[in-house]
Amino acid sequence: MIERDSPLAYSPLEEICSKIDKAAGIADRKPSDIALIAVSKTRSGDEIRPLLESGHRLFGENRVQEAMEKWPALKADYPDIELHMIGQLQSNKAGEAVTLFDYIHSLDRPSLIKALAKEMKRQERHIPCFLQVNIGEEQQKGGCDIKAVPDLLDQARSSGIEVVGLMAVPPDNANPVPYFALLAKLAREAGLDGLSMGMSGDFEKAVKLGSTHIRVGTALFGPRTTPAG
Ligand SMILES: *Cc1c(COP(=O)(O)O)cnc(C)c1O
Repeated sequence: MIERDSPLAYSPLEEICSKIDKAAGIADRKPSDIALIAVSKTRSGDEIRPLLESGHRLFGENRVQEAMEKWPALKADYPDIELHMIGQLQSNKAGEAVTLFDYIHSLDRPSLIKALAKEMKRQERHIPCFLQVNIGEEQQKGGCDIKAVPDLLDQARSSGIEVVGLMAVPPDNANPVPYFALLAKLAREAGLDGLSMGMSGDFEKAVKLGSTHIRVGTALFGPRTTPAG
């Protein structure tokens, strides 16, 4: 999780960890209950290595193909890396996703549940998942309808997939607070402990509203120069 006595300090990481500590303190939560996923989409292995050297091990990617090109070499050097799939997942990439990732945050439809369940059985690899919710009811955004959460949860479980929480990306340019609060309420109602919410611009608010997994890219690596899916 979050490394504090790192031999090779990476200052943006230290800064974010201290902001997490502070937000957690305000909400009377333990900082160790909040996982910081370093979102490394579009970043090269050379950009990622300093974070690994500082002791960080949780990373997130949004494209299977890109992750396949980067992570096998890094995993060979750091076997305890934990890799999270945070982007929309096509069912025909389910096999590769199950091979490479340790968590999937974008489970959002019956066909994907079916494809992932089949691959997990075939590969004998159990990958815990978050159900992604289209919390702002936006067209063309990943995630299931709010109303579909109980049904999808049942389907995933009866297919043998462990669902550990809910994930969402609130609408751009809107106050994220009501969306974070709604996602937290949906998770509570569903009896789920995990909440994957909060990015560079709003992770402190997400922590105060109960996030267990924040997904932070630009605040750790700087602005992205190449577009990411
Ligand atoms: C890119 C991305 C992030 C990280 O965004 P930043 O604003 O760079 O912190 C988080 N979650 C998802 C799903 C993403 O695609």
